[in-house]
Amino acid sequence: MNIPYNHYNQYLKEKFGERVQKITVLGGFTCPNRDGKVATGGCTYCNNLTFSAPGHLDDKSITYQIDHGIRTSKRRYKKVSKYIIYFQSYSNTYAPLSKLKELYSEALQHPEVIGLSIGTRPDCVSDEILDYLEELNAEYDITMEYGLESVSDHTLEMINRGHNFECFKQTAIKTGERNIPICAHVIFGFHWESLNSVIEAAVEINKLPIKFLKVHQLHVVKDTAMGDQYKESPFKTLSKDEYMEWLRVFLEHLNADIVIQRLYGEAPEDLLLSPHWGIQLPEFTNEFIKYMEKKGSYQGKALGHTAP
Ligand code: SF4
Repeated sequence: MNIPYNHYNQYLKEKFGERVQKITVLGGFTCPNRDGKVATGGCTYCNNLTFSAPGHLDDKSITYQIDHGIRTSKRRYKKVSKYIIYFQSYSNTYAPLSKLKELYSEALQHPEVIGLSIGTRPDCVSDEILDYLEELNAEYDITMEYGLESVSDHTLEMINRGHNFECFKQTAIKTGERNIPICAHVIFGFHWESLNSVIEAAVEINKLPIKFLKVHQLHVVKDTAMGDQYKESPFKTLSKDEYMEWLRVFLEHLNADIVIQRLYGEAPEDLLLSPHWGIQLPEFTNEFIKYMEKKGSYQGKALGHTAP
């Protein structure tokens, strides 16, 4: 099947000549948007239980978690021998540099680990941390995953992100100057946003040194401020068809060089309040690719780029 966008698996195969798997670990971090340093309460949509690594591993060492993750992965992908360790939950640079060095070095010591993906907030990385990551990036495959969520300051305020778009831009520029690849996370579907919002997002993202993107639809989940608002006064969330159209338009306006790591998110059904689309990632991806084909769409089309 011809994929009408720049797909991450393809990128990994071209770069490493083989399949590479990600293993998610818990580094024991918290978040400055929860503990009072930036704000309390966190982002209004955030419930870390929707994307955390298995909870039974949360008191285990990084090495234990990696060994466990690799063993599990090898049951399905026997031949894989290269892994990227994903520090996902909370803000994985929110600790003194000495602590970060300890955790990241432990992960990189593993013989089958080739790099790290480090998820964090754009207001949570100092020059000192970036200098260290620049050194690591000379030897390993390092990606900084920054939560952008929206390029609109109005939206960032509405969701209590605790930083504005300018903060993201400045961090992206500093990271790019050190040649450390950036993966930006974006959410589509806040009920005050429109199709124009996704075009604006593409325009702004194209101007920055962003190499990878993860996009997902807004999930309204339990035990969040947004979930409480929804229960009190339900608001509209995107239908699957609307989301596909927003994604299609977004990708048409997105620079074709940007590699897409994700276009869809899944949340546990017992936590999810809305939307309920009832499909899993492979099914969504197939359907979306067919939709793009039917519309004659591909990444970068509106910018005059050639079809992949
Ligand atoms: S989404 Fe990230 S930054 Fe926001 S509260 Fe959750 S962990 Fe913190």
